Amino acid sequence: MNILVINCGSSSLKYQLRNINTQRVMASGVVERIGESMGQITQRSFPDKWPDTKDTEELPILNHEAAMKLMVSKLTNGVIQSPHEIDAIGHRVVQGGESFSHPVLVDENVMNTIKDNIPLAPLHNPANLIGLEQAMILFPETPNVAVFDTEFHQTLPRHAYMYPVPKIFYEQFKVRKYGFHGTSHKYVSKTASVFIGQKIEETSLITVHLGNGCSMAAIKNGKCIETSMGLTPLAGLMMGTRCGDIDPAFHIFLAKNKGLPLSEIDILLNKSSGLLGICRKNDMRDIHEARLHGDDDAQLAFEMFTYRVKATIGAYLAILGSVNAIVFTAGIGENDPDVRSMACDGLENFGINIDPTKNNEKTAEARYINTEQSRIKVLVVPTNEELEIAKATAEVVND
Ligand code: AMP
Repeated sequence: MNILVINCGSSSLKYQLRNINTQRVMASGVVERIGESMGQITQRSFPDKWPDTKDTEELPILNHEAAMKLMVSKLTNGVIQSPHEIDAIGHRVVQGGESFSHPVLVDENVMNTIKDNIPLAPLHNPANLIGLEQAMILFPETPNVAVFDTEFHQTLPRHAYMYPVPKIFYEQFKVRKYGFHGTSHKYVSKTASVFIGQKIEETSLITVHLGNGCSMAAIKNGKCIETSMGLTPLAGLMMGTRCGDIDPAFHIFLAKNKGLPLSEIDILLNKSSGLLGICRKNDMRDIHEARLHGDDDAQLAFEMFTYRVKATIGAYLAILGSVNAIVFTAGIGENDPDVRSMACDGLENFGINIDPTKNNEKTAEARYINTEQSRIKVLVVPTNEELEIAKATAEVVND
């Protein structure tokens, strides 16, 4: 069964074609700068036999319809013979609101509900909808499945997801904590429970997704009971360019004292804050390089970033009561031993001990990085959101 996974952003389209029976990724690609004067498509193909190929082409890509057609023409140029070989399409959809706690087969009702949720994700859901609409036009016979970033967090208890603002905002506008990166938290929590040889229903985990966007989840017996992102992906940890949790009165301060309009506050907090706002760099590799050269702003950014992860580990230890493992994932979580060790530094009394040798190993496999004595296991698990979406799609279609 061949599953095409689509992640449609406002100016990009990421895709991956996988045979779910053999687990083989057949091709993956990204179309970038859709709608700009010059765009680009890059596709990597992984044929049964070597060699893999990488093909990049620059050309103007007018809109998402053109991007999808381009993807189909690249896929049918050697990877598959015809679009009919695609058995189902799995779509990443960012915001499912309270309507979706599982992946769903997409029909008109589902499309309308995703539209209804646009006010909660004004940048993401419209792009996700375009991907769905185009897939329905280009592959009229093929089932589409929507997999939501928010669905894994729908198990949060109400005392965790409600905000202490007048309740009418929840009742009328569904203002509450939703959480994001759900597909990643779900994938790494399942992978970690298999790795430590425990049933997910009997495992309590803290998952730490540190990439461009950063979020954490407290997972009790397989169910998410707390997460750091909120109504939007701006909340929680410090991120590459996003501020994470700050005093909400900062908005009032900016408006009153600086006269900033909402649009500029939005850009300031989403695109110019986080690591970038403190040290003018948002890639952790560049920040380490700068620290090595004595850049104090880079050092401060590193300390702030890891301090917030540590503080959230502490909060989630309290919420969960007992924890089997802490799981680091995503670009920084998987690759950065300094961030992992700093975030866990001083937590020995809580039963968390990192082994420096294991922590410094470079491998793309899931692995332990804790010492033998550590009561709580600490793991690095590479995330794989595309695989999780492909599996969920196959399950829904085969149901
Ligand atoms: P992601 O969003 O999961 O793709 O993560 C992207 C981020 O991971 C980049 O912005 C970097 O900050 C970080 N990253 C990637 N590779 C490394 C590495 N080897 N060491 C430290 N950070 C890394």
